[in-house]
Amino acid sequence: MPASGNEAGVARISIIESIKEDMLAFEKNFPLDSLQRTNFGQEPLITLLTCSDSRVPLYVFGETFNRIFSVENIGNQVKTSEGSILYGLLHLHTPFMLIVGHSDCGALKAAMSDYSGEPGAIARELDNVKKSLHEIQSSAYTLREEPSVKYTQLAELNVDMQVNYMLANTAVARLVEEGSLSIIGIILDLHNVYGQGYGKSYLINHNGVRNLQQLQQIKELKGLAARMQRLTAV
Ligand SMILES: [Zn+2]
Repeated sequence: MPASGNEAGVARISIIESIKEDMLAFEKNFPLDSLQRTNFGQEPLITLLTCSDSRVPLYVFGETFNRIFSVENIGNQVKTSEGSILYGLLHLHTPFMLIVGHSDCGALKAAMSDYSGEPGAIARELDNVKKSLHEIQSSAYTLREEPSVKYTQLAELNVDMQVNYMLANTAVARLVEEGSLSIIGIILDLHNVYGQGYGKSYLINHNGVRNLQQLQQIKELKGLAARMQRLTAV
C-alpha cells in the first residue's frame, strides 16, 4: 500500500535526520591529521570505476577518504566517464585502477532490451554498455541459460572490455608497461552466483590477463589467489 502524504512526509523528515547525523559523524571524525600529512591535497592510491548501483558501495575496498578516486556510472563504463578516469590515472597517478562489475546489473539488462523510450541522456549511456558487450563479442562465449548466471557472465565480459578500453589508451598502456599502474578487474557477487557466499568479490582480470592459471602466476596478486574465479572460461 502506498504511504499516505503524511506518512511519506514523516519518512522524508527522518531521512533528512539520518543524513544530518551522518554529516555530524563525519565532522566529528574528520581525519584532519591524515589530510595535514598530504598538505591538504589529495593523494589517492586507487582509481575506482564501479557501477552506480547502490549495492556496490565504495567501502567494499576499504577506507575511501583520500585513498579512492571514485568514478561511478551505470554499467561501469570507461567511455561514459573517460575524462574522470584519466584524471585519476594521468594527473593523480594512482598506482592501481579497479574496475568493478557486479551480479544482477540492471544496466546490462537494460542495454540488452529495447530502451528506445528512455530519455536521450540515459539512452546514450546505455549505448556505451551495449557497445561494450558487442565489442567483446559476448556471443563467442558459452553463456548459461539461467538469467542470474548469464548476466553475471556478461558482467565479467563487460569488465574485460573496460580493461581493454583502458589499455587501448597509449598513455595508460605506457604506465602499465612501466609497472607503475595495475588495472584490476573485479566482480562483486551480491547474489551468491559463484556459489561461495553472498557479497564476495572475485578477481577476473589483471592488465588484460584473464586466464586463471596465468593470473595465479602474477606476483603482486599472490594475496588474492584464492579470489580468482570466473564463470566464463577464457
Ligand atoms: Zn550495475
